[in-house]
Amino acid sequence: MKAAFFKEHGGSEKILYDEYRDPTLGPADVLVRVKACALNHVDMLLLDGRFPPPEGLPHVNGCEVTGTIEALGAGVKGWERGQRVIIFPGFACGSCEYCLRGERTVCVRYGYLGAHKDGGYAELVRAPAANLLPLPAAIAFEAGAAVPLAMLTSWHALVAQAEVRPGQTVLVQAAGSGVGSAAIQIARLCGARVITTVGADDKIEFARSLGAEHVVNYRTQDFVEETKKWSGKRGVDVVVEHIGGDTFERSAYALTRLGKLVTIGSHDTHWGRLDLRHVYSKNLRILGTNLGSILELQTVLDHVVQGRLTPVVDRAFPLKDARAAVQHVLDRKNKGKVLLVNPS
Ligand SMILES: [Zn+2]
Repeated sequence: MKAAFFKEHGGSEKILYDEYRDPTLGPADVLVRVKACALNHVDMLLLDGRFPPPEGLPHVNGCEVTGTIEALGAGVKGWERGQRVIIFPGFACGSCEYCLRGERTVCVRYGYLGAHKDGGYAELVRAPAANLLPLPAAIAFEAGAAVPLAMLTSWHALVAQAEVRPGQTVLVQAAGSGVGSAAIQIARLCGARVITTVGADDKIEFARSLGAEHVVNYRTQDFVEETKKWSGKRGVDVVVEHIGGDTFERSAYALTRLGKLVTIGSHDTHWGRLDLRHVYSKNLRILGTNLGSILELQTVLDHVVQGRLTPVVDRAFPLKDARAAVQHVLDRKNKGKVLLVNPS
């Protein structure tokens, strides 16, 4: 098969589009013909070596995949060739303490499609049949590929972890990102009011169109000050944070008493410091979150079908142009998700 893979760490110039080993199926696996695959920040860490692929190089990135079933492992039942599917990207062992507690996202042997295994920057990808959900006919392959990581992670962060309620206020960092564009919509769906940040003025209207009430350009304005002003000096109930460093620290200062900071990524740096006086005196809660459950993915898909949530696709590149797609994300030019597609 053809794939966009890398043999060495570096920038987008290390992405090669060429022949790659065909996936081999185990008895519980399916082979999926990739129709669309979304790019993610984690792809960039895998590529540049900050998070080297656990199975080594060469490696194929791509966590968010929609496609059709091409072949079934000998033991797979309940699926048919040609069926439209979406792949739940998390792998769990099913037998560790946390899996047995039903908390598969913190499995001690947790892995991701496209990180721990070859992913969807390819014509074909292998996945366990247990990780498949049918892709509803109402959802295009392109829109569906924007759901499994960014939208699901934002859903779990706001609904399960932060337990956002009607009337609360939420600060969403980086409206232009996949996570940000999803989090704004989900917070609104929960009945919350949203303030968000962008890095360029040409993203302000985009953020408003997703439901944000107030948009701050973090390059020209202080988002903590703006949040205080917007909330009548009070601060917000919840922050969705995925940048790290200074943004992580200052996000905590934008919270009101009993506020919750949900950290779901570290795009700039893995480190963040805090003035602990804010944390204990205001009874703040710092919550880590990682993906969500396959049932939550089904719930998100249902909302997409009903039109209550809309996956935001910035641009789709043909698979052969993966290098340009990666550079587009590295340049932070995107508003929403960037995709690779295999036209049928
Ligand atoms: Zn486990």
